[in-house]
Amino acid sequence: CGIVGYIGKRVAIPILVDGLKKLEYRGYDSAGVAVLDCEKIVVSKSVGKLVALEGELGQDYSQASIGIGHTRWATHGRPSQLNAHPHCDCNQDFVVVHNGIIENYLELKDKLIEKGHKFASETDTEVLAHLLEDYFEGDLEGAMRKVLKTIRGSFAMVALRRQEPDKLVAARKDSPMVVGLGEGEFFVASDITAILNYTRKVYILDDGEMVVITEEGVKVTDFEGNPRTKEVYDVKWDA
Ligand code: GLU
Repeated sequence: CGIVGYIGKRVAIPILVDGLKKLEYRGYDSAGVAVLDCEKIVVSKSVGKLVALEGELGQDYSQASIGIGHTRWATHGRPSQLNAHPHCDCNQDFVVVHNGIIENYLELKDKLIEKGHKFASETDTEVLAHLLEDYFEGDLEGAMRKVLKTIRGSFAMVALRRQEPDKLVAARKDSPMVVGLGEGEFFVASDITAILNYTRKVYILDDGEMVVITEEGVKVTDFEGNPRTKEVYDVKWDA
């Protein structure tokens, strides 16, 4: 339902939670965040409102400066802590948040289970993390392109890989996604209002676009990897 991602020099978790709060009006049943901390994926989730997630995070949360957050409106799998996003693969190398529905997730899940993957949730989303693991051949970007060729349905999704702690990859089809351009820091969000506190310069991704973000910059391509030229949209309105 709601997505926020951050990569930069600031502590990610307060930015993620603040962004998710801006998306609360959309409704949700659970929430979660994941950060890359010393090449380890650290996930916190909770059922219910964001105050519950804040309680779960406590005062001494990770100071990592890259992460993703999600508020979930369940479509596949009941509202629960296990089904809340973010979702990981078996080795906790990849972590994903997703809005929308992966229509062919059951057949993908069956194939992955045959290959030995163990699933922790009932969601359609979790196949994305396991597919990234299965398709991985050296870099997150390449694995993501293969996933995008395999899945059907609607999605806005963001993925991180433990061993590439300075990179955030996102893609969209039939579900909104924007990239916020800051000074040496970048944001992704399912809605501009989530990041307006931090920047007013955004790329509005179109369907079939994928983005690879590092602290150095933002690369937008189509799902095949062909570069797309984006205009910077200057947000003049207030939320
Ligand atoms: N289909 C996914 C799920 O049920 C994502 C739902 C959403 O957009 O929040 O977990």
